Amino acid sequence: MLAATARPPRTRTALALALLANTLVCLGEILLGWQANSLAVVVDAVHNGGDELALLCLWLACAEGERAGRLRVFANLLNTVGILLVALTIAGFALERFAASPPVVAELTLAAGLAAALGNAAVALALREAARHDRSVRLAYLHNVGDVALCLSTAGAGVAMLLTGYVWVDAALALGVAALLVGGAWRELPRLLPGGGGRARGQITSSSSLT
Ligand SMILES: [Zn+2]
Repeated sequence: MLAATARPPRTRTALALALLANTLVCLGEILLGWQANSLAVVVDAVHNGGDELALLCLWLACAEGERAGRLRVFANLLNTVGILLVALTIAGFALERFAASPPVVAELTLAAGLAAALGNAAVALALREAARHDRSVRLAYLHNVGDVALCLSTAGAGVAMLLTGYVWVDAALALGVAALLVGGAWRELPRLLPGGGGRARGQITSSSSLT
């Protein structure tokens, strides 16, 4: 549980470092994904954008007061609804790509996957110490450990495309990640609606928003 109470400065610093590392992952994936024409990399950049908002929510929760609470609720709502809409749009692009099979630069997809795995490992490392004392931070930490595996699957898609030349692997992975995003956002929606258990008020939805 993450109540609207102040956290130790070290936790705030850890969250700030995690935010910085996650920002670099997002920017790197957008850049490399665009260059590689890889939908899988771009969709993971969107996923990490959602993580960015969730980490920001945690960071905001370090501050006390009514305003911080309202900001958290608003950020959680934006995070969940935004991710849901973006994931559905990307799923549409992925389905189009199955038919068109545009060229994808497999080497860049591999490089982006490896770089993002390293970046997510840096996020997890930044949170590791604070995770021992704070349950919400621990959930974010465990989430980012899982993200390392997800990014390694993007690297795996790059290897598969290099070895086989099948560019549909990229669209298939993008579709899989989009499905994960929709699943996570869908689970979160009832909690954000009126009478949804009050979890959105006074508590952070960090773990479930981080998909
Ligand atoms: Zn994530």
